[in-house]
Formats: sequence, structure tokens, C-alpha cells
Amino acid sequence: MEGSVVAVLGGGQLGRMLGLAGIPLGLRFRFLDPSPDAPAGAVGVLVVGALGDTHALDEVTSGAAVATYEWEGVPASAARHLGSRLPVRPGVAPLEVAQDRLTEKQTFRRVGIEVAEHVAVDDEPGLSDAVARIGLPAVLKTRRGGYDGRGQVVLRSGAGVEDAWRRIGGHPSLLEAQVPFTRELSIVAVRGLDGSTACYPLVENHHEGGILRLTRAPAPGLSEELQRDAEGLVTRLLDELAYVGVLAVELFEHEGRLLANEMAPRVHNSAHWTIEGAATSQFEHHLRAILGMPLGSTATVGHAAMLNCIGALPDPRCVLAVEGAHLHVYAKEPRPGRKLGHVTVVASTAGELDLRLEQVQACLREPARE
Ligand code: AMP
Repeated sequence: MEGSVVAVLGGGQLGRMLGLAGIPLGLRFRFLDPSPDAPAGAVGVLVVGALGDTHALDEVTSGAAVATYEWEGVPASAARHLGSRLPVRPGVAPLEVAQDRLTEKQTFRRVGIEVAEHVAVDDEPGLSDAVARIGLPAVLKTRRGGYDGRGQVVLRSGAGVEDAWRRIGGHPSLLEAQVPFTRELSIVAVRGLDGSTACYPLVENHHEGGILRLTRAPAPGLSEELQRDAEGLVTRLLDELAYVGVLAVELFEHEGRLLANEMAPRVHNSAHWTIEGAATSQFEHHLRAILGMPLGSTATVGHAAMLNCIGALPDPRCVLAVEGAHLHVYAKEPRPGRKLGHVTVVASTAGELDLRLEQVQACLREPARE
């Protein structure tokens, strides 16, 4: 493993944190990203180019032992192109599944994972039929290309079908029943090259405007039964896709049951807490898996919470004065709605965590001054 080169398609903060986890293992990194300022440039060689450009793909993988991706929007054709040259993990199939919300839901159902009732919609009359079948409120989502709440329109009673179809851009879509969930959870798991698996505890996620703001790990009040259900569903999915690496499944908890919303075939924002809050981080786990190394422990180190810094960074003096707080800065140009960093807070009890979390939240309300 020492000296091995890992090629990563995408050079955002996830790539950067993969690099930060791999350097102690003696790994070296090459990243492909369209931006010369990509955050991962600080931890490896950055090849600037389009993710679908075969010359750039060949350059980033030259001399690499394995290729992976840190963004599910990587063209499947790019992963397929590389597949003839070197192992690409988790592979092409997980990308194809994650890139089409209909295929994704069909895959979930095939392995016995419950999903919200949904209908494929290809035109405006199709949307009217779908509303009649599903009822309102419902969520109209483009099949491809949506993320962080983009490419989505909520239809409430009396909503104009014509207006919703226009707002979604007339793209092939899905109409989903709006789930009156109790809360949003996610399960992050890893599967090794030998088929062994390990799961982190279910975490509770809070979104604002479709963007993740806060993760609590483990999810407060987590029962053994719910954890068992989540581990069962994610393991079936990992096995079905012959997956190698870290996979995240976003879930709704509704009347004590878990419904899958979507999956991310990569390291995931809702497991950033594992850097300080678990025995082995998701980033190290992903690298161990794709390099054929043994998996580690997913045991938690007390209680953890993660807060995203969106649009602005807090004053580091404020955050670092809080016991158990760890600041991660991604070196990205500030822009409204952009994830610029995160703070993880760890504590030995849930009560202590709440106090520390409140202190960090106060820092985030006061953006940094020059
Ligand atoms: P997504 O882009 O599918 O991750 O959706 C972004 C957010 O919209 C989710 O985290 C939920 O808060 C909300 N959402 C999406 N689909 C549904 C649904 N079927 N029912 C209720 N809320 C939803």
C-alpha cells in the first residue's frame, strides 16, 4: 500500500478529506477537477480538466493503483473508460443507479427497501395523471441532475400542474408522495474487496433549504431494532451492487419504519463526524476498502455532532475555544449556499454534547470578521 497512488475523480472537500486520511497510510493522490482552485489540490497532484475528458482521465490515472470518485455526477462513461485500465471502485453500476432517481428507487425495491410511492412523469399530462394517482402534497423531482434540494418542486393542494412542470424545466421526472416523516436519518456503511461490511450508527440529519446543516451521531434515542433494520437494508444494497467502498443511504423515519430517499455512492457529509467521533473515519475506511485492506472498527467515541458552515466561516477563535470542537476549513471561495467547512463537536455524554453544540452554533451565527 505504501507509495500507492490513488486517482480521485473530483477534487472538492470530500477529495481533500480522503487525501488527509490517506497520507498517514503512505498513499499519494492525484485528483481530476475542472477548477484550478479545487480544495483537494492541497493534498495531492491536481489535474485540471473536465471529468469526461479522456485525455485528462488518462493523465490523472497514470501510475495509479486504483481510481475512485468523490461526486456521483461523474459521467458513467468516464468510469467505464477507466475500467479497462485500472480498478474503479465502487464502479460504474453504483454511479448509474445514483444518477437516475427511478433506477435508484427500483434498485431499493428489488432488495426489499421501502420507498415513498412514486410515478415516473415524462410530460405535463403525465404529471396530471401522477397527481391523480399519488395525491397531494407531493414532490416533483427531476430524474437526473438534482442535488441539495435543486431540481425539486413541492406540489400542495390546489397547485398548478402547468406551473410545476415549467419550474422543473420539463425534464423527465418523478412524482413522489411527500412523506410526513418524524425525522431524517442516514446510514453510512463500507464494504471491503472480500465482501466484508461494517456500518456506522444511524445518524439524525437536519436540512435547511435542502442543504444539510446538522448531523447528530448516533441519532438520539436510537433503538437496537432501528439500527438492525438500517444495517440490513444497506448491507443488502452493498451486496446487490457488489460494492467496494463507502456508501450512504438517506432515509426517512416514518411510524417507526425506514423509507429510503436516495443513496450516495461515495463518502458522505453526514459521516464527517467519524473523523473525530469514530474509531476509523469514513475516509480511511473508503481507502482501506478500495485498496483491498481489512476494514476497521466503526465504534463511536462518545457522542458527536457536525455542523456545516454554509456561505460563511465562523471566527476560528470562537469555535476552537469550545471544548471538543474541531474546525475543518475547505479553502473554498465564499458564496451563498456553499459548504465552506464544518465543525465536529464530541463529548462523552449527550448532555455535554448539547451544551457544546449550543456554543458552536452561537459562533456560526457570528461570521468571522477580518
Ligand atoms: P433530495 O434531493 O431527494 O435529497 O431531497 C432534499 C430534501 O427534500 C430531503 O432531505 C427532504 O428534507 C426533502 N424531501 C425530498 N423528498 C421528500 C419526500 N418524498 N417527502 C418528504 N420530504 C422530502
